[in-house]
Amino acid sequence: VTGSLLIEGAQVVSSQGTRIQDVFVDGQRIQVLGDPGTLQVRADRTLDARGLYLLPGVIDAHVHFRQPGYEWKEDLASGSRAAAAGGVTTFFDMPNTSPPTVHLSDLRDKKELAAKHSWVNYNFFLGATPHNLPVLSEPMNIPGIKVFMGSSTGDLLIDDPQVLRQIFMVSAHLIAVHAEDEATLVANQKQLKLTGTMEDHLRIRTPEAALKASSLAAEMAIHFKKRLHILHLTTAQEVAWLKQLKSPWITSEVCPHHVFLSAPKGVARLNTLAKVNPPIRSEEHQMALWAALKSGTIQTMASDHAPHTRAEKERPYPEAPSGMPGVETMLPLMLQQVHQNEISLNQVVGWLCEKPAEIFRVQGRGKIQEGYQADLVLVDMETEWVIQGTQLQSKAGWTAFEGWKVKGRPVMTFVNGTCVYRNGTMVSMPAGQEARIGGPS
Ligand SMILES: [Zn+2]
Repeated sequence: VTGSLLIEGAQVVSSQGTRIQDVFVDGQRIQVLGDPGTLQVRADRTLDARGLYLLPGVIDAHVHFRQPGYEWKEDLASGSRAAAAGGVTTFFDMPNTSPPTVHLSDLRDKKELAAKHSWVNYNFFLGATPHNLPVLSEPMNIPGIKVFMGSSTGDLLIDDPQVLRQIFMVSAHLIAVHAEDEATLVANQKQLKLTGTMEDHLRIRTPEAALKASSLAAEMAIHFKKRLHILHLTTAQEVAWLKQLKSPWITSEVCPHHVFLSAPKGVARLNTLAKVNPPIRSEEHQMALWAALKSGTIQTMASDHAPHTRAEKERPYPEAPSGMPGVETMLPLMLQQVHQNEISLNQVVGWLCEKPAEIFRVQGRGKIQEGYQADLVLVDMETEWVIQGTQLQSKAGWTAFEGWKVKGRPVMTFVNGTCVYRNGTMVSMPAGQEARIGGPS
């Protein structure tokens, strides 16, 4: 039983501004907000939040929680704990599990698991294969269809433009793409004199491969009038192209590791721990991504939390798998960026909460507004701490941001009105619900 709660005097943040308000939560929902001391409500409990910031819970639209099939890397319980600790109250998980999420029954199985084990709200992408086209047109409560245009972890590769075309033709949902052109990757692998080091990763997965796939997907989205969300943008070329394209059918995402790290300097020490697809590129690309986020050419940030064990990641290149954990460090890294006056807290709420809700048509979440679900994060902007992999909730036990000093940290996370995380500890019970997605595209 959640009862009612009055959160008093927090700095309430939206993309539009920040103001001190009282927030009254009754059961699962935000009932009413108002100036301090003005709400005529009788609350079961009150929480003095003066000096703290209240943000809408983050909607992380790109995670790999590895269940079913790879539970030694992560599962829905541990992944969602990491989410809650990082201020993430809703996640959308990717279909490259084992079995992959490609049939309605796979989707149902995952949702049943999440209903039991997830500490935060959830939903799941369905993966496209050359063999499940009829499923893609079915009405389903999902954020979208995931298409891997370039090979990555798992076996959901779509490298035939004709199949891609059919996917765009029949899909009744938003299409999210991993955009790297497989033919280019394969050709590079064959033609280049490879060194067997991490440098190969950048030489194989070129900006040209990314741009080629992004623009092919965009062409089809525009032709078939389907919504396209380009995942983890990494290149200055794609940013420049998107800026002039300005299509209402196309949105995009950037990931923390691509804006907080750059090659070669920033990843040298990390070696294969920094192996991700698409790769972490040079500072020139990194700066272009920040600029695109600030200008609105890129609308959202998501973690692409893709954990592997440290032992797996320490295998030599190229055997070390691609991907790194990130769901728990995304918001703290952005808070640190706020302290450095690079960005504002209002922008963070826009990129991590409001825009994902808008793009994926998430019902009743992503804002602190009357009638919305009480998915809330209370942030102490003055706490200084050091990111340490062993202290994080993810099973990975490591992070690319090991030793980074950051200022600002979620101190309480509420999911549907229930506090599930408080000062470093999980409290209460898994309270996640299936996130409702608005009508078909
Ligand atoms: Zn991913």
